[in-house]
Amino acid sequence: MDFDDTPEEAAFRATVRSWIRANAPRRLEPELSRAAFASKAIASEDPLAASRAWQKTKADAGYACLSWPKEYGGGGFSPMQQVIWQQEEGVFGLLSMIFAIGQGVCGPTLISWASDEQKAARLPTLASGEEIWCQLFSEPAAGSDLAALRTYAARAEDGSGDWIVNGQKMWTSNAHISDWGLLLARTDRTVPKHKGLTMFFVDMRSAGIDVRPVRQANGDAGFSEVFMTDLRIPDVQRLGGVGEGWKVSITTLANERMSIGTRSMTGVPELLELCCNIETATGLAIDDPAVRAKLALWIARANALRHTAMRAISSVSRGEAPGPENSVGKLVAAELARETAAYALELQGQAGILTSPELAQSAGWFQTMLLRAPAMRLAGGSDEILRNIIAQRILGLPAEPRVDKGIPFNEIPTGR
Ligand SMILES: Cc1cc2nc3c(=O)[nH]c(=O)nc-3n(C[C@H](O)[C@H](O)[C@H](O)COP(=O)(O)OP(=O)(O)OC[C@H]3O[C@@H](n4cnc5c(N)ncnc54)[C@H](O)[C@@H]3O)c2cc1C
Repeated sequence: MDFDDTPEEAAFRATVRSWIRANAPRRLEPELSRAAFASKAIASEDPLAASRAWQKTKADAGYACLSWPKEYGGGGFSPMQQVIWQQEEGVFGLLSMIFAIGQGVCGPTLISWASDEQKAARLPTLASGEEIWCQLFSEPAAGSDLAALRTYAARAEDGSGDWIVNGQKMWTSNAHISDWGLLLARTDRTVPKHKGLTMFFVDMRSAGIDVRPVRQANGDAGFSEVFMTDLRIPDVQRLGGVGEGWKVSITTLANERMSIGTRSMTGVPELLELCCNIETATGLAIDDPAVRAKLALWIARANALRHTAMRAISSVSRGEAPGPENSVGKLVAAELARETAAYALELQGQAGILTSPELAQSAGWFQTMLLRAPAMRLAGGSDEILRNIIAQRILGLPAEPRVDKGIPFNEIPTGR
């Protein structure tokens, strides 16, 4: 493919570059440039308020959710223009990461499955950052095997058509600050597991929702356990038909892998910069042939990843749905992030154990990255599951045997 801008793309790039220069919160640029991840992006002011302010500024100018239709708060631009925007937005894009699940995963699911009224009610406030969304899929006993989930939604007995939900979700990123959640629940236990699911969206402030944040190794509490006890959801907040939840979730998961796979950090440019600046026992790291050999390998992998992402974006530009090739992006990026961060710490020697941004090399960027890398290998599908998808859907290898295939969910033997 041709990586040069067409004349129209170059004109768009020039327009957005000058708009970003004039409107982005430049006072935050030094902090954002040192930030490894959005959760630690800024300390000098309230990060959520800064994120909302930047998102609103973009929305008012038509630069929020660039490829969504304009009537739902989007920009009406092409996927390629969205990529150009992300390149030009640079570090300011970190401010919008808090909206990534809503805008990259839940929003596209609503666009595909919601009624016109539902879209008009929910999408503009999602695009403008006024409302934050989370994804209520995984459970303690349903992660890779998502269709095994046990959260149960039953019709209310009062004839209202509402649903009463009981169960527990796990790993729900940003649940503690979310206004809405996309919820996958079981509505029929008497049919095979994929057939008895239904998708809803739920007001996270509803009575019956208890959000309990989980503290992680790096000190953050970015995800939560979410308990639902007699939670009432109106039927108008159902997406797709009763029992069609698995079909709806395929849209969500494909967009999730596209969203993660095409913009995951690899740490490669940051490692290159570190090697140009750090002294080892034999001199500047970049002058060491052993360091250069490792860098060459990682740079080649990062470039291959970039081209794979561009191929995926090009196919979406042609109107195709996000496909299994996005699994390659996340798989390779998460592994690269772990390898490059570990190597950067090795190069730092004993100083590698420092985590304080004031004391550590590169403001502790690689230390943060190393603690985050295991999560990257799980979130949005674990390495093994992505390898299974690549094996089956790209390479055409036989599917894994499924011992519960065709068996009603309530007849699958379990521990209890
Ligand atoms: C930081 C983070 C944020 C997350 N955010 C969200 C969120 O917002 N919403 C949400 O719903 N979920 C979220 N998740 C959950 C994520 O999707 C799950 O962790 C993931 O799908 C794996 O599920 P599990 O943790 O239950 O592990 P399990 O499914 O129990 O897997 C355990 C291990 O077994 C392996 N394994 C399982 N099945 C197979 C198989 N068939 N073949 C080979 N190996 C297999 C897995 O690869 C893994 O190594 C998040 C996870 C993380 C780490």
